[in-house]
Amino acid sequence: MQILRHAIELEALKGGVLVPTMGALHAGHAALVAAARRCADAGERRRAVIVSVFVNPTQFNEKTDFERYPRTLDADAALCADAGADAVFAPEVEEIYPPGRPVWMPAGAELPPAAREPGLEDAHRPGHFAGVCAVCRRLFELARPREAVFGEKDWQQLAVVRAMAASMPEGPRIIGHPTVREEDGLAMSSRNRLLTPNHRRRAAALARALEEAGRHDVPEEAEQGGRRVLLAMRIVPEYLAVRDGSTLAPLTGKAGAAPGARVLVAARVGDVRLIDNAPWPGFRIEHSPAASARAGSAAP
Ligand code: AMP
Repeated sequence: MQILRHAIELEALKGGVLVPTMGALHAGHAALVAAARRCADAGERRRAVIVSVFVNPTQFNEKTDFERYPRTLDADAALCADAGADAVFAPEVEEIYPPGRPVWMPAGAELPPAAREPGLEDAHRPGHFAGVCAVCRRLFELARPREAVFGEKDWQQLAVVRAMAASMPEGPRIIGHPTVREEDGLAMSSRNRLLTPNHRRRAAALARALEEAGRHDVPEEAEQGGRRVLLAMRIVPEYLAVRDGSTLAPLTGKAGAAPGARVLVAARVGDVRLIDNAPWPGFRIEHSPAASARAGSAAP
């Protein structure tokens, strides 16, 4: 497996499958890379699997969050090699955003509508999706993948990137991969390693809140039920909301009227901000990480 530092080196790998990440990789990322491998091997010609590892400054709202984001490139490269990647692309910031070249940062109506649904990520992290779109578009332009794999763990990002890629002349097909969870249901995340042991235990309440929301088939009751689970653990959510899985707009009717709906949550546990989501209703924590990866739903 190669480690690439320069965009020009991607030229030889175009037409492959890209897995964009910010590094500090874990088993959730490994599952995405393995899915990319299967996709790249499915046709007549074996295509390349590229994992980008780039902590993207334009998508962070807080400088401290960007600075303390874990950086573990050697371990990341080993994980990618094991999972079947052909190359890790780990550029410096200047390679993605060359000095003197204006950075395309979509704003307002330039962003896919899903990025601007009130009450979700955009309300709490203004400008975050502009940064996500900027880096993804740049990576797509540089690597020219035919497909790109994203995790359902970041459901809103998946919906936004899918819409953006569809609007690009040669944008890749976006493949969503189910969330990989720890034994107690906590969605795997690079940020989990920043939790204290006490906060790590409490963080499992996010998945339990999604499970509780899944027991109700009226959105308001689901949201109240999920919140109760969090508040019992002294976690105040930034949001816990049942939404349309594609548009991310609020739901009005009961569960049966909203196929593909999701329940989405964001909360700080200690000083670590965590997000999660699940199909709604009916989500159940499967107490085996491998099983929960297989049991996810289709992407929007
Ligand atoms: P990140 O490095 O956190 O930006 O994530 C890179 C990609 O991995 C994104 O598409 C995430 O949605 C995905 N991802 C992160 N955690 C998980 C997980 N627990 N299960 C599945 N995909 C994940």
